[in-house]
Amino acid sequence: MRPLPGRLVVATHNAGKLREIADLLAPYGHDIVSAGELGLPEPVEDGDSFEANAELKASAAALASGEVALADDSGLAVDVLDGAPGIHSARWAGPDRDFTMAMRTLEERLQQIGATQPDARRGRFVCVLCLAWPDGGTELFRGEIEGVLVWPPRGDWGFGYDPVFQPDGHTRTFGEMSAEEKHGWRKDKGPALSHRARAFEMLVAALRG
Ligand code: IMP
Repeated sequence: MRPLPGRLVVATHNAGKLREIADLLAPYGHDIVSAGELGLPEPVEDGDSFEANAELKASAAALASGEVALADDSGLAVDVLDGAPGIHSARWAGPDRDFTMAMRTLEERLQQIGATQPDARRGRFVCVLCLAWPDGGTELFRGEIEGVLVWPPRGDWGFGYDPVFQPDGHTRTFGEMSAEEKHGWRKDKGPALSHRARAFEMLVAALRG
């Protein structure tokens, strides 16, 4: 993969994601500026996969800014709901980004089909990162973390659906974990934990060649 310049445009208008991406990039010394700070418009996310949406966001930001851009398309995919909310995870929260409502909608759907036992409530967070260059080149990286959907929501950390997602092998939800724990940085040099940290691990491996 081509080396990255000193500054990257992070193609997101989501404050929670921006915070996590800044954390995850911090060890590598890149300056970052968000698409929001540059006043770039938010493209319509009309792709039919995480990859397509990550690519359209990164490419739009790279073309508009003339700089290398990084986008994240992510979401929660629940097995018994055929992968919903999936690429529509943000949309379930409505224009006010009300994730209390989105988590309640998800729970109602699970209750409607009788998904009360942990085995029936399995899902995964998916994160696809896309790096895009102004000349049209792109690179994609995908990270996933499996777990179970809990009710009621637990914890005030993180963002989005974090309070209802308990990753496998843990007794706490992402909402109950500090950013450091959610990334997996607590386990001295162990593997990354969150879908976003796992996608970053792939990106960093590609950079190192
Ligand atoms: P999009 O990638 O902008 O379409 O939005 C992804 C949506 O998925 C976010 O608004 C959150 O609702 C959800 N999501 C993605 N990653 C996370 C995470 O790490 N924790 C909680 N929710 C997430």
